[in-house]
Amino acid sequence: MAIFETEALVLRTYNLAEADKIVVCLSRGAGLIRGVAKGCRKLKNRFGASLEPFTLINLTYYEKENKELVSFSQTEILRSRFNLSGNASILTGFSYMGDLLIEFSPPHQANDNLYRMALACFEAASESPEDLEAVLRYFEVWLLKIEGFLPDLRACANCHRAFVDETIYLGSDLSLRCAECSNRRGTAISPRLHSQLRATEKLPPAKFAIEAREATNDTKKQMAELTFQIIGRVLERMPRIRPNV
Ligand SMILES: [Zn+2]
Repeated sequence: MAIFETEALVLRTYNLAEADKIVVCLSRGAGLIRGVAKGCRKLKNRFGASLEPFTLINLTYYEKENKELVSFSQTEILRSRFNLSGNASILTGFSYMGDLLIEFSPPHQANDNLYRMALACFEAASESPEDLEAVLRYFEVWLLKIEGFLPDLRACANCHRAFVDETIYLGSDLSLRCAECSNRRGTAISPRLHSQLRATEKLPPAKFAIEAREATNDTKKQMAELTFQIIGRVLERMPRIRPNV
């Protein structure tokens, strides 16, 4: 039996037997892990409130050979989200991000970029709940990028010419082409939407969210439709929960 310690973000929990829970979390050290927290539903237990969804914890767990489920041994709260527990739209947004992380992350594969990006998005939305929508768009774009599904936003996939303030087209192969190369077929992306997408690549989520306040409702809606379309195509179905679209 091997013992590990890592920082982790609790994403989802399920009840198991009478007093236990299965906890799914994204960890810095081991990526997506599923573990059993024995006795955590008893009134007095060593886990306390640490396993509430979206809590950031320091986690100690045991791993048994050939077992997919690990055993949680100790947890310590690094950041609780208790102050947001009454905010339904934030909780829906967090559940959505949690679901996508579970869908996109292969189990037991550490990915520091993904972990840091996810954490930054949860923090940005916690600090500024009114920017939730922009943070979700940022999260979607980066999740697609880190997992290798985001088309190159800089240049045409066919002629490799850099895009300059022009309408471009997303093809069914999820690549972006200029008007000539695409024959204007596919999903049109306006120059404004394109610059919003490019902004996600240059800014941290909190700064992107502040800039996105200036975007028109049309651009916001187009961005939401576009990320939704790409995610749907990658997953071959629509996400289970999706706020505000
Ligand atoms: Zn081209």
